[in-house]
Amino acid sequence: MLSSCSYSGSGRENRIIERTEPAMGTIVTIKVSVAPEESETAARDAIGLAMGEIGRVESLFSVYREDSQVARINRSRPNEPLKIDPEVFTLIEKSVGYSKDTDGAFDVTVKPLVDLWKLAKDSGVLPSEKDIREARAKVGYEKIMLDRDGMTISFTTDGMSIDMGGVAKGYATDRAIYILRNNGMQNAIVDSGGDMYCLGTRNSANRWTVGIQHPRDRGRILYKIDLKDEGIDTSGDYEKYFMIGGKRYSHIIDPRTGYPIGDDVTSATIIAKDSETADAYATALCVLGKAGMDIIDKKGLKSIIVRNNNGAMNVEMSKGLTVNGDKIEK
Ligand code: AMP
Ligand code: MG
Repeated sequence: MLSSCSYSGSGRENRIIERTEPAMGTIVTIKVSVAPEESETAARDAIGLAMGEIGRVESLFSVYREDSQVARINRSRPNEPLKIDPEVFTLIEKSVGYSKDTDGAFDVTVKPLVDLWKLAKDSGVLPSEKDIREARAKVGYEKIMLDRDGMTISFTTDGMSIDMGGVAKGYATDRAIYILRNNGMQNAIVDSGGDMYCLGTRNSANRWTVGIQHPRDRGRILYKIDLKDEGIDTSGDYEKYFMIGGKRYSHIIDPRTGYPIGDDVTSATIIAKDSETADAYATALCVLGKAGMDIIDKKGLKSIIVRNNNGAMNVEMSKGLTVNGDKIEK
């Protein structure tokens, strides 16, 4: 989880207009920095529109809403192309791209396994090898057929389903930023439960500062980082996990094994040009572990991995990131 840090200064300061609402199964906070000569009302109106946009994105991609496009796709029959909204098509197409780029560590078709492990969470009983094998047979991004000309999607295998949970919050964050910009806001931060984007600066003297949370000590910030016109997302095993028989299980599944990721990576943070990219690759990096940092570097993204070494937190960063006190510098 990330958090935006605020601090005080002096003189005629920018005011921070802020609103927090529950959405997408998390808490969304939008802050706009308003210069002394700018209108607070315009900022409030823009924030309202941006929150509305997040609600709109949620209604397209949520697996919990029966009428969402994704829910409709998941009810479709194999090999029967279904016409979908271009926006939904595009995010699925990009998600398949993230799956290819990460050799399936990120996999938008992981839902049969997610459902299996959700059942384990609710019942307290681990799935059998057979259950895992059967669910794995329904997972694989190469089994999605996309036809851009017809704007259709179909699955090649019965029982397949998609889960946009690893990327949709980042996408919603970027859409909210788009709406803020379109409504004249130049300096803002959108935080969708840790999937963030920093637009412009906090004021003429300071950039937006984001805190990277200690994965085992809630409320404690491990590092701070200043960002401008960048997305940052953290994925990890500490916000959402469940226990069975005294063992901790992550909500992130390794699609290649069918099991929740092990305890190698406690949290993975990605800094990218947008929040969607950061969201997808942060989830992937949790699966790939330290070996995934090469893929991240080649993509021109920056990563910070926190690994649990018998209770001590080991931090590893991409080349180009350095630590100065509690600050990460680029
Ligand atoms: P995040 O919190 O962004 O890391 O996304 C985690 C969510 O993405 C989970 O709650 C699942 O809905 C979904 N998910 C789990 N494992 C994967 C995976 N390997 N690839 C893509 N999505 C996943
Ligand atoms: Mg993610």
